[in-house]
Amino acid sequence: MTTTTVNRVFNFSAGPAVLPLPVLDQMQRELVALPGVGMSVLEISHRSGTFESMLAEAEADIRALAEVPSNYRIVFLQGGASTQFSMVPMNLLDPGATADYVDTGSWSEKAIKEARKIGNVNVAASTKQAGPVAYVRVPAVSELSLTPGAAYVHMTSNNTIEGTQFQSAPDVGDAPLISDSSSDIFSRPIDVSRHALIYAGAQKNLGPAGVTLVIVREDLLERSRAKKATLPSMLNYAIHADNKSLYNTPPSFAVYGVGLVAKWLRVQGGLAAVGQANEQKAARLYAEIDRSGFYRGTAEKSSRSFMNVTFRLPTEELEKLFVKESTTAGLDGLKGHRSVGGMRASIYNAFPADGIDVLVTFMQDFERRHA
Ligand code: PMP
Repeated sequence: MTTTTVNRVFNFSAGPAVLPLPVLDQMQRELVALPGVGMSVLEISHRSGTFESMLAEAEADIRALAEVPSNYRIVFLQGGASTQFSMVPMNLLDPGATADYVDTGSWSEKAIKEARKIGNVNVAASTKQAGPVAYVRVPAVSELSLTPGAAYVHMTSNNTIEGTQFQSAPDVGDAPLISDSSSDIFSRPIDVSRHALIYAGAQKNLGPAGVTLVIVREDLLERSRAKKATLPSMLNYAIHADNKSLYNTPPSFAVYGVGLVAKWLRVQGGLAAVGQANEQKAARLYAEIDRSGFYRGTAEKSSRSFMNVTFRLPTEELEKLFVKESTTAGLDGLKGHRSVGGMRASIYNAFPADGIDVLVTFMQDFERRHA
């Protein structure tokens, strides 16, 4: 047993979240001195050859993993996905133009709120409803009222808090599709070419917190280049892309971590294999939720997320008890987001299948004792 396996619980946290054990082991082995370098990744210059090749390798592994076409740039940024809520409209929404937003949850709402500070926003569809649970589904393409000639269409591919997910990228015609994929990036095969820009904070499916991955189609960078004199440099996509993510000091350890996770995903068999494993994990958990009526899934079945499985128990008292007892049993982080309550099992790429078995057994036992 390696030191990292000692006392590890099953971590259902929504993010930062569980990382692959082999990645943690490698980080531990290399932390004090990178092989052949004699310094920690935490200590080396971001201008060193070592770091430059680390960054290039991370990018190459991501490109291979997601089959990113050659006319897309891969950029590592800071400020979290939340900064993208502002950067997207600041770079891509020009005066007089309109951006379409699909509102499917709390993170979409935040993206919309920030975009409205910059320019015209049309909410092309909202699945918000009255009642205790605001969002339980994502819309069908037929529900979208798209603006002809929109600057872009923004969607949230997976709604981390509500536990809903688009099963594929909606067809938005010629409009550039922008996806906040923070909580489902690389969890299954993705057709990058159907998107103009994809962004994701790393801390759920990709690595440690501190870095945000942006995959952007080159023609969009022209809109950023046109704003070089007016837009703060740190918020300009083109400046970061043209400087190969080294315009300023990048979050080097987080980039290193993302590189290790990308390699690990390739070793798992790539996105098709990872997607299959994720689907099986989620199906096993949803089957248990649907089995008896004691547990109740909060999302409509056709919109269910493979990443964040949200469910309720018959009473809030039982939910409190469930959180308490599951934590004691070594199942950590099952409490739902404070804004919606209930339970949430976040089961990202690195979450092991045997952890689902343990949770299902716990759920059955809990039901026997408390139903
Ligand atoms: N979008 C989604 C879908 C998220 O789940 C989150 C974080 N939970 C964010 C955006 C915000 O990310 P960050 O904390 O990296 O700014």
